[in-house]
Amino acid sequence: MPAYDAIIIGTGQSGPALARRLVAAGRKVAIIERKLFGGTCVNTGCTPTKTLAASAYAAHVARRAGDYGIRIEGSVNVDMKAVKARKDAVVAVFRDGLERSLKSLQGCTVYQGHGRFVADKKVAVNGSELAADQIFINVGARAAIPPISGLDQVPYLTNSSMMDVDFLPQHLVILGGSYIGLEFAQAYRRFGSEVTVIELGPRLISREDEDVSQAIAAFLKEEGINVRVGSKIIGVEKRGSSITAKIESTGRLSQIAGTHVLVATGRRPNTDKLGLDKAGIATDARGYIVVDDQLRTNIPGIWAMGDCNGRGAFTHTSWNDFEIVAANLLDNDPRRVSDRIMAYALYTDPPLGRAGMTEAEVRKTGKPALISTMAMTDVMRAYERGETKGLMKIIVDRGSKQILGAAFLGLEGDEVIHCVIDIMYAKAPYTVIQRAMHIHPTVSELIPTMMDELMPLQ
Ligand SMILES: Cc1cc2nc3c(=O)[nH]c(=O)nc-3n(C[C@H](O)[C@H](O)[C@H](O)COP(=O)(O)OP(=O)(O)OC[C@H]3O[C@@H](n4cnc5c(N)ncnc54)[C@H](O)[C@@H]3O)c2cc1C
Repeated sequence: MPAYDAIIIGTGQSGPALARRLVAAGRKVAIIERKLFGGTCVNTGCTPTKTLAASAYAAHVARRAGDYGIRIEGSVNVDMKAVKARKDAVVAVFRDGLERSLKSLQGCTVYQGHGRFVADKKVAVNGSELAADQIFINVGARAAIPPISGLDQVPYLTNSSMMDVDFLPQHLVILGGSYIGLEFAQAYRRFGSEVTVIELGPRLISREDEDVSQAIAAFLKEEGINVRVGSKIIGVEKRGSSITAKIESTGRLSQIAGTHVLVATGRRPNTDKLGLDKAGIATDARGYIVVDDQLRTNIPGIWAMGDCNGRGAFTHTSWNDFEIVAANLLDNDPRRVSDRIMAYALYTDPPLGRAGMTEAEVRKTGKPALISTMAMTDVMRAYERGETKGLMKIIVDRGSKQILGAAFLGLEGDEVIHCVIDIMYAKAPYTVIQRAMHIHPTVSELIPTMMDELMPLQ
């Protein structure tokens, strides 16, 4: 039986980085990947969707060229085969680069197959059993398919199968109005599809504050996306070349007929075929591996990193998991998950950058707080760029003067949010940013001004 110091199952965002650190520390490592090197982010998540969004943005700007005084003769046509080829080329750079670097990493053996625990310190792959005292699980998550009547009878798409689409769906019906659904919705609308988003909750991305959610709904509707909130899908049916979703909304039944259906109603961890029971590894009711603040499972010598531990659902949280595990194991540095400040972005155009608490969450705590909001129409840089949709919001603790949270929905919101994230990590008062001289003309130059305009949160 091949014996290693460490086995890593999955090559998502934390596994490969940890493999590099472990071999650099002299450990003999095995890493197992059953499908595509780089996992979700590289192949079916962040990289391809942002590459598609870049093509969609190009089409959008080309259609708006007249607003900038640019005349384009004739109509703007989207070549979906070329759009997909560009996406595939970008993905291939990262996937193939990772595969090459892992296969050439001295001290690391790559196994291509499905890994499964057969005992607490043994993993089977391709008919062999590997043993190690330390095992790291980085198996990620996949699209959750809701139990909607008839869904299993229609050829629905997920974020994975969307990657093979090299044609323009005539009418894309998206089940789920959250982060993944909305990014696809805007991109495909800009490519030229009719798009309908069906959301069960009373508003889109209901985890965000209502003003943010309403602003996003407004610009998506303005682009011609049909948004149906408060709508329960009670069945799906194929009728000829169309797929019909039956919907119940405020007690009334209606139907939406599209040509393609994308299921974007959440994620589930890839822990179901992992033999966790053979190793005695505990999961929660939804299948996420239970970990402590340093990402240790209930079995000594086994860790879980990335989406499969339910402590984050982003590339940067998975990467941060790697940093926490490596710091604890190799650097005698007791980093913890609870040290991180939640931050993420929604990559619509304009994007939403988020950090810390929402306004609604702050209100629930009852803490005395200050708030400042600014419409993007007040940002000169946004005017110059002709992109003035959205708003910015910062909330501060009145006592400590530390920033509690921020939402920047607008031009470069995914970048500007880092002004706030770093101050939050420094645990510095907002007055530090208030006195900083920012560069003109940028969106970030308005952050000190927003600090000048903080008002009590009523
Ligand atoms: C459409 C979409 C867009 C997204 N956009 C963003 C974004 O913009 N920003 C962001 O931060 N996050 C985004 N995410 C989330 C992000 O992709 C994930 O959080 C990130 O990939 C972290 O994944 P991970 O490290 O947990 O594992 P993953 O990347 O999911 O990788 C897990 C790997 O393990 C392999 N594997 C699973 N089981 C086994 C097994 N038994 N044996 C061997 N190998 C196995 C899988 O094949 C896979 O390669 C997006 C997700 C989706 C779906």
